[in-house]
Amino acid sequence: MNTSHDKFDLILRGGTVYDGSGGDPFAADVGITGDRITALGVLSGVTASDEIDVSGMAVSPGFIDAHSHDDFHVLSSPDVEHNTMQGITTVVVGNCGFGVAPYDTAAGRLGELFSLPPEVKPWDGYAGYLATIDQVKPSLNVAVLVGHNTLRLDAMGDNQEVPPSIDQVTHMAGWVAEGMEAGAVGFSTGLIYEPGRFSTTDEIAAVATVAGGYRGVYASHIRNEAGGLVAAVEEAVIVGEMSGCTVQISHHKASGGDNWGSIERSLAVIEAARERGKDVTADQYPYTSGSTRLAAVLQNGALTHGSGGLGRVGAEDVVLATCSERTELEGRSLASFVEEWDLPAEDAAQKILDETGDNVYVVIFMMDEGDVRRVMAHPTTMIGTDGIPAGSKPHPRAWGTYPRILGKYVREEGVITLQDAVHKMTGMPADKFQLAGRGHIKEGVFADLVVFDPATVIDRATYEEPKTPGAGIHHSIVNGTPIVRDGVHSHARVGRALRRGRE
Ligand SMILES: [Zn+2]
Repeated sequence: MNTSHDKFDLILRGGTVYDGSGGDPFAADVGITGDRITALGVLSGVTASDEIDVSGMAVSPGFIDAHSHDDFHVLSSPDVEHNTMQGITTVVVGNCGFGVAPYDTAAGRLGELFSLPPEVKPWDGYAGYLATIDQVKPSLNVAVLVGHNTLRLDAMGDNQEVPPSIDQVTHMAGWVAEGMEAGAVGFSTGLIYEPGRFSTTDEIAAVATVAGGYRGVYASHIRNEAGGLVAAVEEAVIVGEMSGCTVQISHHKASGGDNWGSIERSLAVIEAARERGKDVTADQYPYTSGSTRLAAVLQNGALTHGSGGLGRVGAEDVVLATCSERTELEGRSLASFVEEWDLPAEDAAQKILDETGDNVYVVIFMMDEGDVRRVMAHPTTMIGTDGIPAGSKPHPRAWGTYPRILGKYVREEGVITLQDAVHKMTGMPADKFQLAGRGHIKEGVFADLVVFDPATVIDRATYEEPKTPGAGIHHSIVNGTPIVRDGVHSHARVGRALRRGRE
């Protein structure tokens, strides 16, 4: 702690600062007092209780995972190692329509993958979730989106394949109001999933309008990332225009070989909306494979007609990632079951679900590397992991996203500059989600920082060994306290609930 003799609690000396704005880097020491950055510049001759020599290193705002599914995981594993070891200091949870309230409905999805310790009690609404974050104090900060699927299940029960009644829309809207009042950053949908895929544009806009009243974000896993990609991005923009929300296209991609290249047209839709003055952006993870629920693969006809939101994929493109009931199946391709059981692919997939329950996740190879680069280089794209770190063979994005971009796409391939990459990982998501005092390096803001070596940083998580931290991420600081030092987790529990627009 700060004594009367020391001006600062911690100084990072000799680094090159990438301040999160996308501007040129500059040499500066960073002085930290309490939870804030209190000086930036030459601090020679100034004492601190603690110092870290970061010469030769890049000093960046802590990375903000714009697309996280760690809603329950931050409470079940508060060190959140897959995030913290890659430099993430804040996660935005509640994506793809899967929210944390009402609790009982939420617990049936992500809650089944990440069982909570007995001391974490069921929470009451979004206010209760954020209060639980402040009690448990994971190692990093947590901001939350209100999820539509969860609300629709709660409002409509088993009768989902119809439009909601006025009362049911009012019920959903009431939860959005509760969430936004509590400090949620926006509202999310997952329109390839059930029950979200049964909802119309009008229903979504009616519920999102509550979030729009708070200038919240409408974050959407859009209805179709394949042949209907352009129309689906247009739908998200329309919801934004009807509701008053800003818009975030989740994990922007073109899925399925027939649709590769169509990303140019979906980027054009985003550009046109921005020219009309609408705030539309997207997030991305840097891989040519995705990961989703096996149930969604079937519900969208991806193994048969391919006209659904995932396009057409082959059994050889689908690999079991997480299968809690039968972990020995994890890592096997759907094609191997097709062969073993002599069944068509969709029947083999259904048999897996019948035998193991609904919560099965898969990795799907369905993107084009050129599209991945085009999306990354586009100024409307920020970074998020979309990680689901459950089971033995989850998608490596949960561990590798940030070091992979900094190593492969910045240093090795020059797809984007280092200052652009840092901006997409920090200032851009912080400003979009109204995370006050986060995402930038300047005097007075919170001391969320990451120190990495631009010459060596790289991902090491693979499909075979996905739970492998990247290299070159040396130190990570949350609210002024190192949570990772010299590449080792300190187990410091200093994260906070972040409430929209509030410091
Ligand atoms: Zn999604």
